[in-house]
Amino acid sequence: MIAELVCVGTELLLGNIVNTNAAYLAEKCAGLGLNMYYQSVVGDNEERMTQVIRQALERSDVVILCGGLGPTQDDMTKEVAARVMGKKLVEDPHTRKCIQEYMDNYLLSHPGLRLTENNWKQAIVPEDAIILDNGNGTAPGLILEKEGKSMILLPGPPNELKPMFEEQVAPYLQEKQPEIIFSKMVKVCGVGESMVEDQIRDLIDSQTNPTIATYAKTGEVHLRITARAENEAAAKKLIKPVVKELKIRFGEKIYTTDEKKTLEECVIELLKDRKLELTTVESCTGGALTARLVNVPGASEVLKQGLITYSNKAKRKFTLVKKSTLKTEGAVSARTAKEMAQGAVASTSCDVSVSVTGLAGPDGGTKEKPVGLVYIGCCCKDKTEVREFHFNGNRSKIREQAVVQALILLRESILKHYYCSL
Ligand code: ATP
Ligand code: MG
Repeated sequence: MIAELVCVGTELLLGNIVNTNAAYLAEKCAGLGLNMYYQSVVGDNEERMTQVIRQALERSDVVILCGGLGPTQDDMTKEVAARVMGKKLVEDPHTRKCIQEYMDNYLLSHPGLRLTENNWKQAIVPEDAIILDNGNGTAPGLILEKEGKSMILLPGPPNELKPMFEEQVAPYLQEKQPEIIFSKMVKVCGVGESMVEDQIRDLIDSQTNPTIATYAKTGEVHLRITARAENEAAAKKLIKPVVKELKIRFGEKIYTTDEKKTLEECVIELLKDRKLELTTVESCTGGALTARLVNVPGASEVLKQGLITYSNKAKRKFTLVKKSTLKTEGAVSARTAKEMAQGAVASTSCDVSVSVTGLAGPDGGTKEKPVGLVYIGCCCKDKTEVREFHFNGNRSKIREQAVVQALILLRESILKHYYCSL
């Protein structure tokens, strides 16, 4: 079944309000298994609204209109929709009663205000319309049906639209479209998006149900596997072999199949499972890596301290980086990253450490050491690995990438050096 969305309001066209209803409704429709091929925004103009609604009705089974249901002159969605559907407008006594009750209540808490005549306009509805009661406002939602097509009219304010959709529209659509959409997320880190796509090209090319979509994030790729089926159990059955295949192809690069879990959560979990204590040592990221780890509730169990050794002096004092290393190789070097990581383990008596040193720019780059050059080190069980990166982007983008790559190196080092039967 094809659904189409038309958001009404000149203020949307002017950018005065953000079209959050579109994102909300699109996501809900997708979850209900509806296909949505078009969305439009149209101003409060009768002629253009007529055009857009007519076109939507021709190519889609369900047209959802939001906004313009209120009592004022520029609210004309209902009138235009009724005309396009060839329906007369009649007064609905039930809605009139609801408006009266809502207003009585409202006026009680707003003394001095009074009910104006134009409010009754909202009790006028297209004949045979299904009325959707509005518990949070006066304008009811409406469903108009004709020749197998439906038009659903919803009020613009999100606090009115959302409960109305969830409580009344979703069950209506579910009945019309008994299939559901269910999806599972597979999160991969340490492999670039093009590499991921290349490794699953055959799966993507042959997909019908379920489908695989890739989303590139900083340092990560998320794969969403979506199935269409009559119920959740049937959808899960379709998804299972695809997840299994992805696990074969990406192995330990998959850090979770839980949509809500983050990379830092998984890293903290690994440390907890193995009862390891961590120290972070940061130069160019200035605490951002530690802050990301601290996002995870219970991080204190494993994260014992974070050192921000920004100056050479601090690198020497707190992480025992050799004077000669700083002199001959510089603060941004593989050797410094290594000594920072090793020094952190030695000076804090922790099990694992991760270090970051680099040039976040915009100034300070040279031909040999350009902006974006970052070294990340990880010391784990007397073994220290250092990786060199050349990141692109501005200062914050470079720092963000450094943080993610530090988490990835930390994760891989723990997996490599600490076997855990859990
Ligand atoms: P009202 O009875 O409040 O006039 P309405 O159904 O006529 O409701 P509009 O007049 O189009 O709706 O919009 C009312 C308010 O609802 C807007 O000022 C805005 O705050 C919010 N709104 C409308 N459309 C959207 C949208 N697409 N996304 C987010 N908010 C919206
Ligand atoms: Mg309005």
